[in-house]
Amino acid sequence: MEQFNSVQEGIAELHKRNTGNKKVHALLTFQHNNHKMCKTCFLFESKEDAGAQLIKAYVQLQISNVPRNEMQAAIDARQVAINAELAEGDPAELGVVPEGHAEEFLIDYFDTAVAIAEDVKYVTVYLTHSPCTTTDRKPSHSLHGWPLSCTAKFATLAANHPEYFFSIVFLKKFGTLDGNDTPQRTLKTLSGDRANLAFIELKKEPPYERP
Ligand SMILES: [Zn+2]
Repeated sequence: MEQFNSVQEGIAELHKRNTGNKKVHALLTFQHNNHKMCKTCFLFESKEDAGAQLIKAYVQLQISNVPRNEMQAAIDARQVAINAELAEGDPAELGVVPEGHAEEFLIDYFDTAVAIAEDVKYVTVYLTHSPCTTTDRKPSHSLHGWPLSCTAKFATLAANHPEYFFSIVFLKKFGTLDGNDTPQRTLKTLSGDRANLAFIELKKEPPYERP
């Protein structure tokens, strides 16, 4: 988690990391009861699963110079080695940090962030990608006691906090939402049509028009 003392700065950082970066980022911002923007905001990033982290950290797990027809065997053998390593070793000692979607880290930190922001009424979350849904290949599953997928988790967060209004703003459509012409409507329906939760696709093209 990174903290910024200006929402503009946080959003600029979010846009910067949206280029050529497969990691998902989430920026948590607040507005007070008087509609004034809270300057403090919080940026979270996704963490890959333990296997992917190990491959990046250990050069001997990186597959190179393998003929195409042996590739699958090499990948399978590597997975066996990774599983053995993780079964035996302490993940923390191996340098592995807990995996999770950016939204999960955000939700985990939510109460702390609200306490720092003070006098919160509106919550706006900016995402590089739309939240995952249960129809995606790997919906988020790392937050104990919370439902599968980040869309369902935001629905639960909004249900837990009827005193706030949540807007989930996203730059790109993720996974099964790709090609969907009404992603806002789809996410709203999937999240149970809650009165205090909205999803907004931020269209990049054409660039933000000014009057
Ligand atoms: Zn997710």
